[in-house]
Amino acid sequence: MSYMITNTRPQFERTDMLPVPITEERPWVVFSACRDKEPDLFFPENKTDERTALSICSACPVQVDCLEYALEADIRFGVWGATTEKQRRRLARRLAS
Ligand code: SF4
Repeated sequence: MSYMITNTRPQFERTDMLPVPITEERPWVVFSACRDKEPDLFFPENKTDERTALSICSACPVQVDCLEYALEADIRFGVWGATTEKQRRRLARRLAS
């Protein structure tokens, strides 16, 4: 994939490759560290896959956007914004109190 640096984030030229609804709802997804990864990895069925997903998230430049989206949309399943389902439930409870 080719890209050029303009401000602080790379501007990808191939956003046309992503489904339109996703780029409209989550425009930051074009910068995500998981954009080329197997989506199933982020819905882990074991701790090894969960650790791998969290490791990818830890280097993701849109981690905060992703976590905010997951919390606002109340996404219950999967790894989002470097958090597991359990961590997001705990965080949501803390934010609500
Ligand atoms: S934080 Fe993780 S799940 Fe969210 S966009 Fe980045 S790599 Fe993907």
